[in-house]
Amino acid sequence: MSENTDKYEPVIGLEVHAQLKTKSKAFCSCSTDFSSPPNTNICPVCLGHPGTLPVLNRNLVEYILRMGLAANCTIRERSIFARKNYFYPDLPKGYQISQFDQPVCSSGYVDISGNRIGITRIHMEEDSGKSIHDFASDKSLVDLNRCGVPLIEIVSEPDIRTPQQAYDYLTKLKQLVVYLDICDGNMEEGSLRCDANVSVRLKGSKEFGTKCEVKNLNSFKNVSDALDYEIKRQIELLESGGKVTHHTMTYDAKSKVTSPMRSKEEAHDYRYFPEPDLVNVYVDENWINETRKALPELPEQKAKRFVKMFLIPEYDADVLTQERGIADYFEDVCATVKGNNYKSASNWIMTEVMRILNDEKIPIEKFQISGKNLSSLVNMIAEGKISNNIAKEVFAEMLNHTDAEKQNPETIVREKNLLQVTDSSEIEIIVKKVIEDNPEETKRYKNGEVKLLGFFVGKVMKESKGKANPKAVNELIISNLG
Ligand code: ADP
Ligand code: ZN
Ligand code: MG
Repeated sequence: MSENTDKYEPVIGLEVHAQLKTKSKAFCSCSTDFSSPPNTNICPVCLGHPGTLPVLNRNLVEYILRMGLAANCTIRERSIFARKNYFYPDLPKGYQISQFDQPVCSSGYVDISGNRIGITRIHMEEDSGKSIHDFASDKSLVDLNRCGVPLIEIVSEPDIRTPQQAYDYLTKLKQLVVYLDICDGNMEEGSLRCDANVSVRLKGSKEFGTKCEVKNLNSFKNVSDALDYEIKRQIELLESGGKVTHHTMTYDAKSKVTSPMRSKEEAHDYRYFPEPDLVNVYVDENWINETRKALPELPEQKAKRFVKMFLIPEYDADVLTQERGIADYFEDVCATVKGNNYKSASNWIMTEVMRILNDEKIPIEKFQISGKNLSSLVNMIAEGKISNNIAKEVFAEMLNHTDAEKQNPETIVREKNLLQVTDSSEIEIIVKKVIEDNPEETKRYKNGEVKLLGFFVGKVMKESKGKANPKAVNELIISNLG
């Protein structure tokens, strides 16, 4: 790309849907369980049969309040639902219950690495069903289990300036919904969904360019790749004398290309009007205060507390609090760590534990080593019972057991006879043998080639199968060679 690209500034705003973890649907008592067979979690209300009436699930309001408060929003005391009318086979009612001009939450923000991203609004709505196009049988099927499952939509201000910032903003939202325990945050599985609005303008220009909206993005990476492509496309179009026209685009992850959707698919006139079957949502001061009080500790607060309480660097605290599960695990380990060895606990989690989670693609909740046993391992190193290298060996063995006692590093060290040798007479026997076996190096060392010390240390450690105390080894080699 050339200097042309540098002349422009991208402007991005995201619309994110989060599927809430309530047990029952938004306006009926059907289960939201996704493992149920198709069309089993349905009733006349979510199927929109005439004469049925929706009843608001209080938890839906509770959850959106949590999100609104965590995202620094103003909470509207009285808000209303609206009907968004459109026809689709997976929407039997012919309209979706949503909120239009009076959302519960508005004018908030979240901070991402020094940039404040405004949140225009967060509102409640219901999900539609799912159409399944089975090309093999040439049939389209519809599963209505998802009809009426509660969603919140989080609309950002056009404050995002790069695809990377869009990625970071999504990461932040995911972190928040998971910490708040309102959504499982999985974009691949559709519990978080994102539509990306993007335009470009000449740098320094005050006005926004015409935007396009990109849909069909099902991973954070897809969002940032699609934005990269779309920004480039718009700049090239403008540079060649063309004009960006308002379009809904779809993204193809394979070719990493956006293309316009058929215009029929975007020809929407939703004819919003107030939902006559539901009363106003009334959120009083008391409800807001109770929810605020019950908010869990959020990542930034947690990180600050970790620095204070466990005396770990800010960097560590940041990494450890990215995921609530990891932060909990760290605290679990620290509960039984002796002395001030929290930094060592942090190192083990940030390197060895996270490596396993990555390799095995498992969440921390599925990690086999208990916090207590990892803490025992950290303690054994601190007490000089095992070296760091032996500890890695023990750790690998711990991974093979789920039984708490078999996984206990004390047991493994005892059974495998890995206890560190600190007894100098035992170590000296090995040192003497190594010197005897290496007369050439001994001569060179005595002639002043002191950097050979490392060679001897290595030999002794190998001979002792890594169990000799490295400090004692060093001292004994020097005294025996001197
Ligand atoms: P629409 O009327 O098309 O729904 P909205 O004004 O409601 O548009 O905005 C939808 C999303 O698009 C918001 O996240 C907003 O920040 C973003 N947006 C609005 N205008 C622009 C623009 N010119 N460029 C990029 N994003 C924009
Ligand atoms: Zn139902
Ligand atoms: Mg809009």
